[in-house]
Amino acid sequence: MLLRVHSIETLGALDGPGIRTVVFLQGCPLRCGYCHNPDTWSYEAGKMMTEDELFRRILRMKPYFKDSGGVTFSGGEPLRQAPALLSLMHRLKKEEIHMAIDTSGAVWSQAVDEVIHLADLILLDIKHTNADAFFQLTGGQLKQVLEFLDVLKRDAIPYWIRQVTIPGITDSEAQIEQLGKITASDSRERIELLPFHKMGMTKWEKLGISCPLADVAPMSAAVTEQLQIYLSNI
Ligand code: SF4
Repeated sequence: MLLRVHSIETLGALDGPGIRTVVFLQGCPLRCGYCHNPDTWSYEAGKMMTEDELFRRILRMKPYFKDSGGVTFSGGEPLRQAPALLSLMHRLKKEEIHMAIDTSGAVWSQAVDEVIHLADLILLDIKHTNADAFFQLTGGQLKQVLEFLDVLKRDAIPYWIRQVTIPGITDSEAQIEQLGKITASDSRERIELLPFHKMGMTKWEKLGISCPLADVAPMSAAVTEQLQIYLSNI
């Protein structure tokens, strides 16, 4: 089977526990105004790699994973390539490699269902907790993401919740309180806020796309930290 890959980071430390190989898969159905990687959106771009090539690339890094690391499939939206991903993950499972999926939860299919049950951890990025604001920010439907979240809760699949904190869009206490409440369950292992930054802006310019958040200031790390404390006490 073939997978369309944007890039591979070999020693990632942010997308899941421990040292990780992060495979960024090409293609995404959303159009988040703060996207750092708009070059992952197209389903035509990227490099085709065989399942076998990817399997060997990941396996080569196994000594670095030690007890807590592993592989994270990110994107773009990795679940758009769920059938091929599933086949690769079955092989990695046999090698006892920890597998995380970094997703927006915006796509669903039988293969997606199987992928999330095979994964060891889901990193679910909830863009906004209000349906209209979610649509405005991403072009997608919050309802689909909440249904995805319900499956994680129902089947006790371990997950981390993440949200980008954007001034004037996701930084109100009411929105953050809602995020804490709707995502709570025994299998939620972590919930974190990430400050909006503008390091990906040059990519938008290079692609000739106008960014709807171009005039929004970066989020203060100190304020994000305060909101994180607020969130931890909900
Ligand atoms: S889901 Fe991720 S890759 Fe897709 S548009 Fe949003 S931030 Fe970008």
